[in-house]
Order: sequence, then C-alpha cells, then structure tokens
Amino acid sequence: MNFDELGLSQKVLEAVRASGYDTPTPIQAQAIPHALAGRDVLGIAQTGTGKTAAFTLPMLSRLEQGRARARMPRTLILEPTRELAAQVEEAFVKYGVNHKLNVALLIGGVSFGDQEAKITRGADVLIATPGRLLDFADRGKILLTGIEILVIDEADRMLDMGFIPDIEKICKLVPFTRQTLFFSATMPPEITRLTEQFLQNPVRVEVSRPASTAINIVQTLVKTGSSPEEKRATLRRIIRGAENFKNAIIFCNRKRDVQVVYRSLEKHGFSVGALHGDLDQRARMAALDSFRNGTVQLLVCSDVAARGLDIPDVSHIINYDAPHHSEDYVHRIGRTGRAGKTGVALTLVTRLDAKNIAEIEKLIARKIDWAPGAEDVVEAEPEAAPAHRGRRREPQRRDAPRREAPPRVEAVPEEQPRVSRGRRPDRPEPARNPAPARAPAAAAPRHRSREDRDDAPVVGLGDHVPSFLLRPTRPPRPVAVGED
Ligand code: AMP
Repeated sequence: MNFDELGLSQKVLEAVRASGYDTPTPIQAQAIPHALAGRDVLGIAQTGTGKTAAFTLPMLSRLEQGRARARMPRTLILEPTRELAAQVEEAFVKYGVNHKLNVALLIGGVSFGDQEAKITRGADVLIATPGRLLDFADRGKILLTGIEILVIDEADRMLDMGFIPDIEKICKLVPFTRQTLFFSATMPPEITRLTEQFLQNPVRVEVSRPASTAINIVQTLVKTGSSPEEKRATLRRIIRGAENFKNAIIFCNRKRDVQVVYRSLEKHGFSVGALHGDLDQRARMAALDSFRNGTVQLLVCSDVAARGLDIPDVSHIINYDAPHHSEDYVHRIGRTGRAGKTGVALTLVTRLDAKNIAEIEKLIARKIDWAPGAEDVVEAEPEAAPAHRGRRREPQRRDAPRREAPPRVEAVPEEQPRVSRGRRPDRPEPARNPAPARAPAAAAPRHRSREDRDDAPVVGLGDHVPSFLLRPTRPPRPVAVGED
C-alpha cells in the first residue's frame, strides 16, 4: 500500500512525498480512507504510530473546499497538553505547505491577544487545549457552531488530567452533524462511554503498540541506594559512564523531583533543562527547543509533560524513578530508538522497586538485564509490605487517586510555587506575589490540583505532621459551675 491509494488530494500527496514518507503506517492506511469519506473514526493508537498524520492528512484534503469565517473555526483538534498542541501545529505546517490555511493555536500560558486576533481573522484549523478553549467560548470570543471536523486526541490522557467534563462541554458546543475523529491509546470505561455518547457509528481502527520494547532499545536496570542523594549520585555516574551518549531524557515520577534533579545536575555542571507542568509555557517551549536543537544535553521530565512528544534522535532514556505504572515505562522508553535508530533505556532501581519492575517485565513480556554489579539488589517484597508500593494500575479506576510511598523530605527546597487548587494546566497563571521563604516542599501539606497530576498523590497528609498536633497538650480547664 502506498499513499496514492488512500484518496488524498494531490496537494497533500506532494507534501507527504516532500516529507520523505512513502508507505502509510497501519493507522494511516486504515483510518485515512474512512476519514476522507466523512465517517467518524475511533482510533486506538498511541503516539509513535503515525496517528497525527492519520488525522491531519485527511483534514487537509477535506479543507480544500470552503473557507473560514471570522470567529468560526472550521475544524477543531483537542490536545491534552500545550506541547502536543504545538506538535500538531507543526504537522499542519509540514503537511499543509501547499495549502493556504489559517491554523490557530489556543493554549494556556500565552497571551490572549494574539490568539484572539487569529480567531477573529478566521481559522481553518483550531488546535486547542480544553481549558483555554472554554475560556474563549465562555467569553463569547469564539463560536464553535461552524465546526465540520472535531478531533479528540490522546483521550485517555485527557481522562488522567481530569479534562473529561470539559470535553463533554465542548462536544455539546459543536454541531451534531460534525465528523469526529477520536484517538486514545487505551480504552478505559470512561473513554468508551464518551465514544458511545459523542461518536456516530464510528469505524474502529486499532493498531498494536509500536515496537515499544523493540530490540533496537537496549534496556538495563541499574542498582542504586534509595535515598535521594544516592539516587542523584547514581544518576551522575551513569550519565558520565554511558557509551555512545548523545543526549538523554530523564524521567521522574514527581514534578517536585524534576525540579530537584534538574537543579542538582545543573549544580554539577551538566547541560540540562527541565519540563514539568508547573513551568510556564515559555519555559516549557524553551526547554524543549533547547533539547531538540542540542543546546542542552539532558532534559529532566515528568510523565505528563513528556507524553507523546516527538523528539527525534534521543540516545538515552533514564528512569530516575522506576515508573509506578508499567504503561508509563513503555511510553518513556519509546522516546528513544525512534525511526530505526538504536536507543538505550536505563532504569534506576532501589530495593523498594521490585514490584514495579516485575509489573514492567510482565507487560513487556521479557526480563530486563541488570547492569553489572547489581546482584541481590531487589529484595523480594515482604507480604506485609504496605499496599501502596508498586500498586498495579486498575484500568477501570483511572480516576482513582494513585498511591505511593510518602514523599521524602529533601534538603533542597522547591522553587516552583504551588498553584492554587483546581487551576487548569492550560489556563493562565495567576499573578503571584514574591514567594516567601519556603520550607522544604515535602514538609508542606500538599493539595492536589489538576496541575499536579503528574505527581503521584500523597495519602492523607503524607509524612507531614501538622504543627498543631505537635503542640503540647494541656489538661482541660475545669469548668466552673454556672459557666457556659
Ligand atoms: P506520531 O505517532 O503522529 O507522533 O508520529 C510519529 C513519528 O512518525 C513522527 O515523527 C512522524 O513524522 C513519523 N511518521 C508519520 N507518518 C509516517 C510514515 N508514513 N512513514 C514514516 N514516518 C512517519
């Protein structure tokens, strides 16, 4: 099968050829003809499968007829993160070189003014994160009644980030007669329900995971002590000792640790950037660009921030923390070994990580080799171990809070001020007063916000003991008779 057989327009075919692609990927081959025919498509595919082109190419073909009207975009693509939205915009630039289409991006963290000007001019393609789009809609600055094609991308990530109510709202603002292209890597019940509600007789297209544990990725477990200091020392050692090292993405389970690891590496003279949900949009884009263009060699990330990013040519993935959820391991290591290149994935393993590693090995159906000198690192977990360690993800309860060991108190204070509860990751940051001197982050009670969802939650108060509990207790004052 080649691209010519899919029914795409000449302009699109020329752009595809110029991109150097000759064979459609399975998701493209299966989805594009149906999308061109105007059918709703339910694509079960994750990033790396070529799914972005699976919806951009037919959209471009279909957009050749008709034109945009002021404030009434013709097509809408919803993405869970700003980075993914920006990546889709790049795809439109690449595949739409022969089209004169207006593409607008509506994402948080950038000024309303420029975005509004583009919408006012009329957008053929609007790529948005749900929060910022609803802000615009609520203010009457955009009308979604002209939407001909709605794309919902990374739907399961939207669920993880708490965006489903927003998606439902948006689906009700667009015309019933639109075409819907819906993509999700997994289909938990909440997502199935959503597709039943908002897709009409969809064609279901399912592609297997990309070669996530491909033989071109050399995977290794690296023994480490479990204290943050020991882990950071191990991290430095493996970066310095890595063979054929070009660059690395370093994954932490918590945003807080992204910042700590980033500052530690910087202090030790490494060329490093950081990417997590608390950074403003400019800082996130700058970090990504610096890593992409090689200005920095290391990028410390959280899972949410890095999910789906297409960064070619990453030589090493380092899991500073073994992920709690085995699917995250697959996503993480899939950032290397792309386009047939060889990659290396190293995972730091403490003796508390046995269960997580076992889950990962079960998912990828193979044992991962240990770096030399790792004998007897991972002790079998005692039966009585607390249930929070390495708890398996329950797909039916993806909205349920993830549990984990209480956070450790770090010597390094967290710089990023916490955002107020309930603020959306793609909504503008509220103005902040200069931050007062802060206690170490882990010692402060933590409130979960949407923003915070790439951290695992703390159960109860974690290891924080509220100061009122530490106050000496006084015996109750005797109550005098007649006193209230
Ligand atoms: P995606 O799953 O959309 O993130 O795409 C993953 C990567 O595959 C991107 O770098 C695309 O440029 C690339 N890609 C998309 N379609 C093709 C194709 N037909 N052949 C080769 N590479 C492709």
